[in-house]
Amino acid sequence: MTEIRDTVVLGSGCAGLTAAIYTARAGLAPLVLEGHEPGGQLSITTLVENFPGFPEGIQGPELIDNMKQQAARFGAEFMPGHVVSVDLSQKIGDLGKKPLEVNLGRETLLSRTLIIASGASARWLGLPNEQALIGHGVSSCATCDGFFFSGKEIAVIGGGDSAMEEALFLTRFASKVTLIHRRGEFRASKIMLDRARQHCKIEFLTDTVVDDVLDVEKKEVTGLRLRNLKTGEQWDLPASAMFLGIGHTPNADFVGDQLDRDGEGYLVPRDSVGSRVPGVFISGDVADRHYRQAVTAAGTGCMAALEVEKYLESCEK
Ligand code: NAP
Repeated sequence: MTEIRDTVVLGSGCAGLTAAIYTARAGLAPLVLEGHEPGGQLSITTLVENFPGFPEGIQGPELIDNMKQQAARFGAEFMPGHVVSVDLSQKIGDLGKKPLEVNLGRETLLSRTLIIASGASARWLGLPNEQALIGHGVSSCATCDGFFFSGKEIAVIGGGDSAMEEALFLTRFASKVTLIHRRGEFRASKIMLDRARQHCKIEFLTDTVVDDVLDVEKKEVTGLRLRNLKTGEQWDLPASAMFLGIGHTPNADFVGDQLDRDGEGYLVPRDSVGSRVPGVFISGDVADRHYRQAVTAAGTGCMAALEVEKYLESCEK
């Protein structure tokens, strides 16, 4: 007979690990399913300078490792792998009776509560050299990494609000920002587009795609190989960094329609971190298209953990 746990945390980024620290410290022995990107987005970042408590900054992977050790010290367990599907068909009258099911393909976990902290994955272009240079000039987070390119020329990819926002933010540091978009029309709102267009440091390149990111041998970004889709012309643009603003994908498909989701698949929590299923709580970027910061993810991870404690106490009564 499979053990029924008090709580299972889906995801091991900042939200999941904070939830694990709190639930472990409350004696609930959480099981953390690490997911397909163990450590979440922080694990692919370099220096994190805006997480409170680290005056000199801290490397993203080190911050994650510290959180993991902190949770383990209080009894959290970790399991590699990711969730294939969940069965949340717990009827409201059955509080705590029928466990929630987490299907991992090879086995099924049973739990009284679930904290979904499965995050959102930045979309990438999918070029081999782009992947090799993540953390070395290729980034999907201007707030995290823009500071490192003070006085440098930076490229931003995308034509939506995220790209406009990143480009405008990066003008604080960059000597020049080139916004590269694959079409001539933009998804960005007029106000954001106008703001970017009017900024003296931002130049637009439309109908243009990135064919390659240079230079893997130097282990840093030195430029982008670009191609104009209308003329076929290819050329190299000097740049010290490439920021992707082509959107994020929430990792929530495994819930199907068992929880509220918006048009793009983000989970929509009820009452801060709750959901329509008793015992299921939501935290971090899987429900956050707006802030996407380590500290905000940690905050909602903490809130979800406190709600789990409260829920389990209410079931015992
Ligand atoms: P988005 O609106 O979906 O825009 C993504 C952009 O990236 C599109 O221009 C798309 O090009 C481009 N793109 C996607 N895949 C690409 C690829 N493989 N290669 C090159 N380009 C690619 O995403 P978003 O900008 O992240 O915005 C998501 C939502 O959040 C929107 O509702 C937006 O309004 C909102 N948001 C609001 C703010 C704000 O108000 N401050 C800030 C950020 C985001 P195509 O146009 O050719 O498809």
